[in-house]
Amino acid sequence: CGVYGVIGLTDAANFVALGLHALQHRGQEAGGIVSHDPEIGFNSARRFGYVRDNFTKQSLMETLPGPLAIGHVRYSTAGKKGAAIRDVQPFFGEFSMGGAAIAHNGNITNADELRTELIGRGSIFQSSSDSECIIHLMARSMQKNIAERLEDALRRVEGAFSVVAMTRTKLIGVRDPLGVRPLVLGQLGDGWVLSSETCALDIIGAKFVREIEPGEMVVITHEGVESRRPFRPQTPRFCIFEHVYFSRPDSIIGGQSVYETRRQIGVELARENPVEADLVCPVPDSGTPAAIGYSQESGIPYAMGIVRNQYMGRTFIEPTEQIRNMGVRLKLNVNRALIQGKRVILVDDSVVRGTTSRKIKDMILDAGAAEVHFRIASPPTAWPCFYGVDTPEREQLLAATMSEDEMREHLEVDSLKFISLDGLYRAVGEAKGRDPNRPAYCDACFSGEYPIEPRDMIAKGFEL
Ligand code: 5GP
Ligand code: SF4
Ligand code: MG
Repeated sequence: CGVYGVIGLTDAANFVALGLHALQHRGQEAGGIVSHDPEIGFNSARRFGYVRDNFTKQSLMETLPGPLAIGHVRYSTAGKKGAAIRDVQPFFGEFSMGGAAIAHNGNITNADELRTELIGRGSIFQSSSDSECIIHLMARSMQKNIAERLEDALRRVEGAFSVVAMTRTKLIGVRDPLGVRPLVLGQLGDGWVLSSETCALDIIGAKFVREIEPGEMVVITHEGVESRRPFRPQTPRFCIFEHVYFSRPDSIIGGQSVYETRRQIGVELARENPVEADLVCPVPDSGTPAAIGYSQESGIPYAMGIVRNQYMGRTFIEPTEQIRNMGVRLKLNVNRALIQGKRVILVDDSVVRGTTSRKIKDMILDAGAAEVHFRIASPPTAWPCFYGVDTPEREQLLAATMSEDEMREHLEVDSLKFISLDGLYRAVGEAKGRDPNRPAYCDACFSGEYPIEPRDMIAKGFEL
């Protein structure tokens, strides 16, 4: 998901809509905005579909006045799949000291446990979303003001969370102690901005100030930014997959350009897994920067062997298998004239179920390619993510049940190679690779080492 918030700018909701549009790659199912105006109070709008189709209509934006607003774009990882507007964030709660809204990116790993406890004590849940726990925990807190209630609530929450919240007068941002999901602070004139990624600061012309640190809470009012540390300090474990796939290539994470990191992944991939071929082609768009790096390092020409229809969203994010299957063809087509008779290296960011790779291989061979070699910009995805990326159950992950060689056979390609975990760490700037005693990132979907115990999943029978 993507989260965004603005304080101190006239018609803040307009800026939030633009920010959410720039974060659309983080979630395409639905979006929502809550605003506050000192005279009118809180207002909200939650809609299915793209931000640009919902939040530009003047009539709707006029219902969201005021100098303070937050928003969310949704990609469901927890809660029931499919359409329910009640699951669309931000969530809102009314407390004795006033209302508050929250938008959450990540996944709460003890949400089932908390929900059972809260329902037992009288909370009335409105949605199936894990994030709603936060509001109910805030309602039960004895603290006198809302920011402290949020601190109380988040101290009971386990998992990954980048939260943007608002009260009548405050914009609040928090990252979990490991800092699994991103959150950055920006400034525009007299206003302040919180955003999942820097690309959504650029869109409104806001200046990047700094990242919210893992375990940090910022409380922003017209007087400025106050920083707090509500949690016991821990060693950060940012999601390494944000670098590989999830973030936009024009964002900056930890001072590093995501594009440059991905290009470097391609360089490492070419060093680790060279092959003789005529063309390096990306699987667009997610494989493009790594393919550029692979081509530069190997000296094999880069070419657009697959062309993407710009009007289709991310296939993986479509919730049903049937749509996902069709999606590949709706979205990608082979550039026949280029491919015919060629030995082609295809570079993609990841193999999850293998659906994409299989379809693309078929399309490339149909177009008359002489050989197909897959090079993947992440290690085999052998474990599900419980921290906010929607990987399927373990059984559906190709790499959970097959060796690299079996995957190559299953995909029926001439070769299939993944970047090593060390190679990936080198590409993200860890010169010595992955330190097994103190890994600098979360890499659980590749290593199976979960930095936060997936408590709810273990209760449901998941085995580590
Ligand atoms: P597959 O077809 O193997 O199931 O999925 C792999 C494709 O899904 C890749 O092309 C990748 O770009 C895309 N993808 C989209 N969203 C995600 C995600 O959340 N996780 C992973 N691992 N891949 C994703
Ligand atoms: Fe990121 Fe993978 Fe960790 Fe999930 S399991 S947070 S996708 S590195
Ligand atoms: Mg892709």
